[in-house]
Amino acid sequence: MLYLGCHLSASRGFSAMVRTARSIDANTFAYFTRNPRGSRARQEDPEDLDAARASLREGSFGPLVAHGSYTMNLSTARAEDRTFAASVLADDLRRLAALPGNFYNFHPGSHVGQGVETGVAQVAEALRAAMAPGYPVTVLLETMAGKGSELGGSFQELRAILDAVGREDLGVCLDTCHVWDAGYDLAGDLDGVLREFDAVIGLSRLKALHLNDSKNPRGSRKDRHAPIGGGCLGVETFRAIVNHPALRDKPMILETPNELPGYRAEIALLRSLDAKS
Ligand code: FE
Ligand code: FE
Ligand code: ZN
Repeated sequence: MLYLGCHLSASRGFSAMVRTARSIDANTFAYFTRNPRGSRARQEDPEDLDAARASLREGSFGPLVAHGSYTMNLSTARAEDRTFAASVLADDLRRLAALPGNFYNFHPGSHVGQGVETGVAQVAEALRAAMAPGYPVTVLLETMAGKGSELGGSFQELRAILDAVGREDLGVCLDTCHVWDAGYDLAGDLDGVLREFDAVIGLSRLKALHLNDSKNPRGSRKDRHAPIGGGCLGVETFRAIVNHPALRDKPMILETPNELPGYRAEIALLRSLDAKS
């Protein structure tokens, strides 16, 4: 059984997201923990959360993949911005504790001229402070395209953050567009890329995927998502991904330029590529 879903709006609460997910044949989903470009979080309603937890169980959903705000830059040079980002992270994690067993994915951020080493140390410091021992939600670093001074544009940079945090329960979310744009040949050599991932990061750390085609050729470092099959990765890459034994049991989230009908069609397409269904 594949766990497929897309980004959904959290504006009407959790039960509404579960209903919307079911209406498009999704069995996982992502949502922004707060306005993706702002920082305000909505107040959760405990009844809504209870109802959502029950319908997630009934619907045999895979883990949800909540997404931290794009503006949360834990590796920025400005100390006050970093303090703010760290407080946003801590607040996100506190709220997500209400959804144990699910995932929280975020962008490691941009070091903006400070250098990779300083950026890595700062992200790690914020994570160590925010992740209580035995924290019930798995925190995931997203693989990035390496645009500008973005951290996480190579498996080695993610490894450096994992090492600096020093916790076994910190994972990675692989974004297919980002990894391709960062230069890894997912279309030509999926097994080779996964071997490299395993050697540098360890496949046991891989907990979720973002499925996006890319508008640009490999190594472009642009980060422009395309619909599945409508970019440089192509449908066959996604056929290989959904059928790959190391990947097929992970939640896979679409972040393609789409509205709900488009996501429904992409989920149907991906399910049709599954050789076991
Ligand atoms: Fe992301
Ligand atoms: Fe992504
Ligand atoms: Zn992206």
